[in-house]
Order: sequence, then structure tokens, then C-alpha cells
Amino acid sequence: MIPFDYQRADDADSAVATVTGHPQAQFLGGGTNLVDHMKLGVADPELLVDISRLPLDEVTELDDGGLRIGATVRNSDLAAHPLIRRRYPVLAEALLAGASGQLRNMATTGGNLLQRTRCVYFQDVTMACNKREPGSGCAALEGYTRYHAILGASDGCVAVHPSDMAVAMAALDATVVVLGAAGERRIPLAEFHRLPGSEPQRDTVLEHGELITAVDLPASTPRRQAYRKVRDRASYAFALVSVAAVVKVDAAEGEPCITDARIALGGVAHKPWRASRAEETLSGAAPSVESFRRAAEAELEQADPLGDNGFKIPMVRNTMVAVLADLTGVEPEAVA
Ligand SMILES: Cc1cc2nc3c(=O)[nH]c(=O)nc-3n(C[C@H](O)[C@H](O)[C@H](O)COP(=O)(O)OP(=O)(O)OC[C@H]3O[C@@H](n4cnc5c(N)ncnc54)[C@H](O)[C@@H]3O)c2cc1C
Ligand code: SF4
Repeated sequence: MIPFDYQRADDADSAVATVTGHPQAQFLGGGTNLVDHMKLGVADPELLVDISRLPLDEVTELDDGGLRIGATVRNSDLAAHPLIRRRYPVLAEALLAGASGQLRNMATTGGNLLQRTRCVYFQDVTMACNKREPGSGCAALEGYTRYHAILGASDGCVAVHPSDMAVAMAALDATVVVLGAAGERRIPLAEFHRLPGSEPQRDTVLEHGELITAVDLPASTPRRQAYRKVRDRASYAFALVSVAAVVKVDAAEGEPCITDARIALGGVAHKPWRASRAEETLSGAAPSVESFRRAAEAELEQADPLGDNGFKIPMVRNTMVAVLADLTGVEPEAVA
């Protein structure tokens, strides 16, 4: 039994002040990740500050036409919200592709963004892991790497970020709203999670004590959106690979062409991977299996697979082609 203290936060400012002032304190959202880690010995906070009952549990419309998602909105409530389903279906699809009904009922928006990697060596305290214990080494490099990164990894860590929700938010150009001791700051979701580099222990750019209060979604979002997840089981499994795509096709002047493509990949990197090379390749292109394949290949030129995960390269390519074909009405039988 490892003792720890528990406090229920009364308001966001005092929650931030308490955690900022205590180096071994952590916020508690739904607890579905943090409590597991405490049981495994991966996390050992001395103080938990429960923020799950703060009044941050609403989805509200912003003056500019966007939406604000409070940090304690539960994943199941967010997936079912009529405005999310209507305006941001890629997000509803991604949420419903994650975990199970019971877990989604507990999991919060802030906690989901900050869930930690599922790398089995990270979760096993007998194994070397630079993320859990900086400088101890990386057991995955000589181990089983089916679930690990093909993009943006370092010699220090090859883990992937496990969230489905965050991949959709990356494609939606979401912004994370954060409250710290020095006040509020806004961080584009694409810059919120980090690549491992030489500091794999840092998953995000957050400082200790900073509280996620909301995630904002922009108004001007094309309506052709989809999330597709490839996994070992049909449910209750993390992504081997996933693709979130948001696309606009303009057919006003004759031949249809892609005027806006926002694509993010999951299961391939230490962060939701915004596929900017693919997006550039698609810009102005006519929708076709050939142009989708070219876009995927432009992105995957930078892939560097490990011993067990070379299969992710064709898997990303084929999933991206299939999602884009669905969204643009390209004949499915033409997809290889
Ligand atoms: C069996 C299983 C299967 C799963 N499958 C999937 C899946 O397929 N796809 C998927 O995406 N996820 C999956 N998950 C993960 C699940 O989505 C996460 O555990 C959940 O989203 C975490 O949210 P939480 O509110 O419970 O976070 P918590 O466990 O409460 O917190 C997680 C971390 O976030 C911090 N934190 C929480 N809220 C805030 C905040 N507002 N500001 C700052 N810090 C905060 C905590 O201190 C902690 O470090 C699975 C989990 C399990 C157990
Ligand atoms: S891949 Fe990263 S999380 Fe996994 S063992 Fe190596 S350092 Fe740890």
C-alpha cells in the first residue's frame, strides 16, 4: 500500500495553485489512466487534486462560430453531443473508436489528451524506459515493436501516443486552453504534444501545475470528415494506425479539385502526426486514387520503421487512400 493524499478542487485557480506548489501532486480527471499507473507503480503522486467536478463540463458555442469543449466533458457525452455530431463528425467517430462504453463514461477531455503511451515496457517497471526513468535506456529498441513509431522517433524513445480523440482534434486545428500560475495560454493542438527527442519523459509542452480548461474547435471546418482506425480487434484495442481526414472539394469551375485537406495520423508517432506533406500534395489536385496514393507516399518518405512494424507503411497508405476515396466519392473498387 502506497499512501497518497486526495483533495477535491473547489475552483480552477486553487487547483492550479495547489499542484504548482507541490512537485509530487497531479490532477485527477476520470482516473482511467492515472489510477492504473498508480497500481502498476508507473506513477506515485503524493497528492491527487480531483478536478473532475469543476464546472468545466459543458460544450458551448463561441462568438466566432466555433465550439468550446470543457476539460471535464466526458468522452461519451462529447461523442453524443448534437453539435459535435453535426459539425465535427470526425471527432465523434474518433471518440467512439476508443476504449469501451464504461471507460468513455469516465474519461475526460483533458485526461484523454494527457493519457500516456501504452508501450508495454513503459508500463512494466522492471524494464528500462527513458520515459519512465530518464537515462535508464529503452527496452523497446531491442524488443517487440509492432505497436511503436514509424515517424518522428528518436534513439531515446520509439513510443506512440495512444489517443484517438487527439488525432481528430489535430486534423480539426483545435486549440488547447491552459491555465497556469501565470494565467491562461492557448496552444495549437498540433504543438501541444512533443516528439521524444532527448527528453522522452516530456509528452507535451505543459509545465507542472498547468491545467487544461478547454479545447476550442474553429468555425470554418469543411464538412467532409472521417476517422478510420485499424486495430488488432474490432473493439477495445488501440490503433495500429489511424487516419483523421477533413477535406473540401470545389467543383464550381468544372473539374472537381481539393481546396482544403487536413489529415492527421494516429498510432505512428509520439504525437498525433499532422500529415502536412500529404496535405500539400493534395492541394489543388483532382480527387483520384492516384493523387491520394501520391499524397500518402509523400508523407511516408520520411518513415523509418523498426524491426516489427514495417507493415505500418502500406497500412497508412491504404487507409489514407480509402478514407479520402470515401470522402470524395471516388469509386471504392478503384482503391487497390
Ligand atoms: C482498457 C483500456 C482501453 C483503452 N482504449 C483506448 C483507445 O482505444 N483509444 C483511446 O484513445 N484511449 C483508450 N484508452 C485510454 C482512455 O481513453 C484514457 O484512459 C482516458 O481518456 C484518460 O482520461 P481520464 O480523464 O480518465 O484521465 P486521468 O487518468 O484522470 O488522467 C490522465 C492524465 O491527465 C492528467 N489530467 C487529467 N485531466 C487534466 C487536466 N484537465 N489538466 C491537466 N492535466 C490533467 C492527469 O494528471 C494524468 O496525468 C483505454 C484505456 C483503457 C484502460
Ligand atoms: S519506447 Fe519510449 S516508452 Fe517505450 S520503453 Fe522505450 S523509452 Fe520507454
